[in-house]
Amino acid sequence: MIASVLVGVRRRSLTVLCLAVLGSACAQAADCPGNPNALGTSRTLVVDPKAHPRIGTMQYRETLPLADHEVVLTFDDGPLPKYSNQVLQILASQCVKATFFIVGRQANANPEGVRKYVNAGHTVGTHSQNHPLTFDRMSAEKAQAEIDGGIASTLAALNGDKSKLAPFFRIPGLLRAQIPEDYAASQGLQVWSADFPADDWRHVSPQRVYDLAIQRIEAKRKGILLLHDIQPRTVAALPRILNELKARGYRIVHVVPATPELPATPTEPQQWFMHPPTENVAITRWPPVPNFVFTTSKTLPAPVLAEMDWRDAELIAHAVQARVAAPQRTAWPQVRLAQAGSVATLPIPATSVFRIPEGRQLTLLASRSRPPRANLAVSARAKPVAGAAGARHAVHQPPHAAKGTKHADAGKKTGRPLRIANLKKR
Ligand SMILES: [Zn+2]
Repeated sequence: MIASVLVGVRRRSLTVLCLAVLGSACAQAADCPGNPNALGTSRTLVVDPKAHPRIGTMQYRETLPLADHEVVLTFDDGPLPKYSNQVLQILASQCVKATFFIVGRQANANPEGVRKYVNAGHTVGTHSQNHPLTFDRMSAEKAQAEIDGGIASTLAALNGDKSKLAPFFRIPGLLRAQIPEDYAASQGLQVWSADFPADDWRHVSPQRVYDLAIQRIEAKRKGILLLHDIQPRTVAALPRILNELKARGYRIVHVVPATPELPATPTEPQQWFMHPPTENVAITRWPPVPNFVFTTSKTLPAPVLAEMDWRDAELIAHAVQARVAAPQRTAWPQVRLAQAGSVATLPIPATSVFRIPEGRQLTLLASRSRPPRANLAVSARAKPVAGAAGARHAVHQPPHAAKGTKHADAGKKTGRPLRIANLKKR
């Protein structure tokens, strides 16, 4: 159970407060057995998920209230014993506490692995049941099933002990969307993005993982590092990353959720914001999924043409009604149509739109062999649908013209002989 025991430790003229949480011992570098030069865990940060439901500047406005040179380590997708056990060993050798986001299916396969995280004093959150990379276009029912399933599987591995599972959730692939975020918030879950990845899920070398981790941490100087404890390159890179963080004066912060017995660490609102990013920070390489798909026209961003889709029709309609400047009225629909890619998303044209043009088309087809007056007469009998054109070029018909209506049947009877006769005369 949680014991909120505060212990003051004076070290190098700094007073560091340390919490004993979830039965784990406070891990000061100086107290790390067998490793006097360990990185250690400088402090434990207690957060209230409901007060800050989304964190991580890769995608959200807020992030953890860290001080300069403070880093939170997170690992996704485990447990996978072959590599997760090595990551746990490395962290233990440095007396570093981290947060692990569990995939439910992995927990089902390796329940002992989940217990190892907890028994080592780390924080355990969840990462969905099956790790689908479709959260950005998932139905509410599916998102709920994935989120709930991941929690249920992880809890089962922990023998149902809810006190050992943090209400922290990370969306697979960081594919954020309103639906899973809203559901997570309704369940009191805190959605964790990150402040910098190290690309350790890509086919890159451990050296590259190390380089990216250090470069991106240095660019922001504090924040949440995203890693994966199922990757051999992460195992290979992690000791160097921890050693380098120690050498550069960084400190590791362990994050745990607030409970009735353990109140949140007091913070000021501005502490939940990162300092202004630079061109080197990770957010420039990983833009969030545009939110406009899920919002109303009033909250749409400024019209970036590359991000337009057919749903902007609402916005265009508002703009026309408001009699906005002509260039906007003409430019937006053109982009929308070019990107729509599907006729099904456009309104079905009225029959009257096709009536006159089809009649004229018949006139043009027959004009080489018949005088205009005769063609007009044939067209009048064949109206409103050009049966000949319709039979051989159905793609040019309006969607409802091929349903065998009375007019369409009439067109077939009168239009086809006309066209064949014309072709024979060529
Ligand atoms: Zn993942």
